[in-house]
Amino acid sequence: MNLEHLNALKKLLSSTKKIAIIPHKNPDGDAIGSTLALWHYLVNKGHTASIISPNDFPKFLKWMPGSETILNFERENSQAKSCIADTDLIFTLDFNHLGRVGQMTETLEKANATFVMVDHHQEPSSYAEIMFSDVTMSSTCEMVYNLISELGDSHSITKEMANCIYTGIMTDTGSFKFAATTSNTHRVIAELMDLGAEGTEIHHRIYDTNSPSRLHLLGCALKNMVILNDYHTAYITLSQAELDTHNYQKGDTEGFVNYGLTLEGIRFAVIFIENKEEGILKISFRSVGAFSVNDFARKHFNGGGHTNAAGGKSDDTIAETIAYFTSLLPQYKYQLQS
Ligand code: 5GP
Ligand code: MN
Repeated sequence: MNLEHLNALKKLLSSTKKIAIIPHKNPDGDAIGSTLALWHYLVNKGHTASIISPNDFPKFLKWMPGSETILNFERENSQAKSCIADTDLIFTLDFNHLGRVGQMTETLEKANATFVMVDHHQEPSSYAEIMFSDVTMSSTCEMVYNLISELGDSHSITKEMANCIYTGIMTDTGSFKFAATTSNTHRVIAELMDLGAEGTEIHHRIYDTNSPSRLHLLGCALKNMVILNDYHTAYITLSQAELDTHNYQKGDTEGFVNYGLTLEGIRFAVIFIENKEEGILKISFRSVGAFSVNDFARKHFNGGGHTNAAGGKSDDTIAETIAYFTSLLPQYKYQLQS
């Protein structure tokens, strides 16, 4: 952890501050878990803090302690805007360029506050005066745990905070199995359990919330899967019509992309999901091994992320996007083989 930036933050937090905490658009378990843990910490220290999410987040995260206080920039727009305009510090968590907050970008760019980044994605941009960026970290939640410890406050981690941090580490590591899961990750998890984190219950609340229509949507996605053995690649498409037929709710497609990687020999899995309202396809990329989906998403689909998990988008139709995607694969044939 960068000591200079740590000391600068310590100094800033030594007097009471007004603080806004921002996760990325379409926040996941790590984004919501890390913002909530930090929010509890700062409020307990006597600061005035609010979490402002660019948009809504899935129902399976709404049990998390404090989640009912999160402002939705789309829904509570004027309240959110005035909060950002009147704040001393802005923490941005689990993302590293301002485009990741969608419609909120302009408001953040205009804000007259000190920015603090806490993030584990590749190739951070330089909007934050205080930067904690570490691509070796499993999750932003693990970084928030480390940050609170480095600030000398690990004794102040409550059971609520432990549950939030546990959730983000669990979801970002695919329940402690992805490559970024280190022995330190497990040490942090052990500490969190000692602090009261309820691992089994959290797992149940996040993963055992299927509706029949979500399982049917999964069936549809798996039926749509195309396997390109020559390129060790599998991709799924879901049209807006298919989502509508299955009563799509936010978060329903979470994890679908991973099924491609469970096929023997498949190293690159992709899902293309149509969003008619935004006029885009949202794309998720996953890989195993050295093939960098961060590079792929950045280069071809206006996105980014990590080596083995990234996202991006397309403004074209599903058919056009698939034609473009498959036209790219030959140049990666060698990489996908090794
Ligand atoms: P997911 O596919 O689950 O939406 O995202 C996978 C990873 O890529 C996450 O770490 C997420 O933050 C990141 N990611 C998703 N979409 C985008 C995007 O459009 N741009 C960038 N830079 N990162 C993304
Ligand atoms: Mn994350």
